[in-house]
Amino acid sequence: MDIELGAQLIDSLRIGLILLDHRGRVVSWNGWMKRHSGLGLADVAGRQLAELFPEVSGSRLESSISDTLRFKLSSMLAPSLNPSLLPLYHRPTDRQRDQRMQQLIYVSPLRHDHCACLIQIHDMTSALRRERRLRAQSTRLIESSYQDPLTGVGNRRRFDQDLAQRFRQAKDRQRSIAMLMIDVDNFKAYNDHFGHQGGDACLIQVARTLRDGLRRDGDRVSRYGGEEFAILLTDTDGPSACAVAERLRLAVEQLDLPHPAAPGIGRVSVSIGIAAMVPSDEQLCYILVAQADLALYTAKDAGRNGCMWYDAESGVARPLPASKTS
Ligand code: GH3
Ligand code: MG
Ligand code: MG
Repeated sequence: MDIELGAQLIDSLRIGLILLDHRGRVVSWNGWMKRHSGLGLADVAGRQLAELFPEVSGSRLESSISDTLRFKLSSMLAPSLNPSLLPLYHRPTDRQRDQRMQQLIYVSPLRHDHCACLIQIHDMTSALRRERRLRAQSTRLIESSYQDPLTGVGNRRRFDQDLAQRFRQAKDRQRSIAMLMIDVDNFKAYNDHFGHQGGDACLIQVARTLRDGLRRDGDRVSRYGGEEFAILLTDTDGPSACAVAERLRLAVEQLDLPHPAAPGIGRVSVSIGIAAMVPSDEQLCYILVAQADLALYTAKDAGRNGCMWYDAESGVARPLPASKTS
């Protein structure tokens, strides 16, 4: 091939090419390198990379070059581990802010009378930016697939996954796990009175109140069904769970949302069923849900706006002792 055409070809490549001689001195440096480093071949010829760029000294790039020249080894320096080894920039403004191009670098031997070293540099900046954006998008999508769109708390899918995971952990560590099953009282009548949009607004407020009433990191409210919410409390025994439940029941009562169709109380309230256990090998997580559910329905039968806990010894649900609040 015509030498001039060959030089043009190398200059118009969209990757950086550096050729080093057997002593590691620059022999060739293409147009891409000039555009992105601000240095032409005349500025760099005959010099070592570490002289030109002090950051190369002691870097993985320097040891890769040395391995290539001594042992004819090839290597690849991935941008995840060495994101911006060389001071290469897209625009002069990037240089002022030291926003370097993200680089994927290949170092390989070239056979000559002595071994020479070829360095190829790929610009990975937009590929990595795209990858970051896609990863953030997929994280957001995953998060939203676990979120109840109306209230913003966890959805049933979130609860089912939390239940399986936390129950297993409680079993493995032999720690107590508790569950609160919470149901808005007389909610059908609320909808009938205020319409479904009014009902939706009420659910949003109840969910927020429950969420704000939890004090420990990792405790999470999930919407179990229509007007039912579930909370799992790890490392929590029955009495402590009863205290949390009573605090949440009271917080909803204190919202003081009018509910003219609620017999007796006249405002929005919730009933809560509580169950707690140190799971044994034979127990399945659904037992905890069934126990909390049974306690909830006992609270409904007892007149609503109250809490009941499942007493595993007797197999029945009981009211909370009067002092169980916190
Ligand atoms: P109880 O005190 O026994 O729980 O009575 P309730 O009226 O709350 O229970 P019921 O199961 O009879 O009615 C629940 C109502 O909740 C009926 C349903 O239309 C309403 N509901 C369920 N999901 C939603 C929702 O997303 N938005 C609204 N506005 N209403 C809902
Ligand atoms: Mg219900
Ligand atoms: Mg209800």
